[in-house]
Amino acid sequence: RVVVVGSLNVDRTFRVDRLPAAGHTIHAHGRSTAAGGKGANQAVAAALLGADVALVGAVGGDQGGADLVASVAAAGVDVTGVARVDAPSGEAVVLVDADAENLIVVSGGANLCLDAAAVTAAVRDARFVVTGFEVPDDAVLAAAARARELGARFVLNPSPMRRLPDGLLGPGVLVVVNEHESAMLAGGTDSCDVVVTLGARGALLHEAASGRTTEIVAPRVEAVDTTGCGDAFMGALVAGLAAGLDLAGAATLAVEAGAFVATRPGAQGSYPTSAELDRWRRA
Ligand code: ADP
Repeated sequence: RVVVVGSLNVDRTFRVDRLPAAGHTIHAHGRSTAAGGKGANQAVAAALLGADVALVGAVGGDQGGADLVASVAAAGVDVTGVARVDAPSGEAVVLVDADAENLIVVSGGANLCLDAAAVTAAVRDARFVVTGFEVPDDAVLAAAARARELGARFVLNPSPMRRLPDGLLGPGVLVVVNEHESAMLAGGTDSCDVVVTLGARGALLHEAASGRTTEIVAPRVEAVDTTGCGDAFMGALVAGLAAGLDLAGAATLAVEAGAFVATRPGAQGSYPTSAELDRWRRA
């Protein structure tokens, strides 16, 4: 089973012609509200591709929180590890421009109340433990410690990037970053497998044991909204590993899933099942 320790956010998306500069006010020409958050997105992506997935996180007692949990559960994710806490549910404001570029501001809210003891208790029976940086350091460290105890593979997506707490990385850890984050990773990953996503160009995979670097080229697509592509990539990568693919095979599946999601608006709502991805690959 895959256990994702991560965030759930209500995404409020505004479609704009161009991303505004500081001090400017512009009109959006469309808006939508949808379930998001890196943890929720990654869990949904992996579950839709056939993995057995549980999400550990926190939402508020508000309607947004109820909707977030319902949306993740509808994708087949076990949500018994999602706590209700006394804080507003996490929220993100997403601007998407005509070139499918985005700009995102996240207010962590309930996600920042996810405590280490709750993580330790909720991470059970895992072969893969996945986490990101929209939850507190203590929760990330607890997830890593549980992964070690269970002999599970720890998969870290340090996004949005901040200083990595000491002792997080080590042999067997898989680190997944985008290009910006890769530039900010200040060493410490020598013993880890590292995947760097490169947007429209696909991804690079560096395997620690062999020292080998593999380039995985993305299919050319007409991108309309790249929000949630990185999370779809993460979810698919772990679903592939859980299904027994090697790292290169799982990364190939992940690149395809990311490209598929770039062709549709929104994040979670645009994630494919294995059958949809198969059909799209053959089309
Ligand atoms: P993030 O969204 O986290 O910044 P990337 O932009 O690197 O991450 O995108 C993650 C993955 O999504 C890429 O590795 C690729 O598979 C897919 N992807 C993103 N944008 C495009 C695009 N324009 N065309 C094809 N695939 C894309």
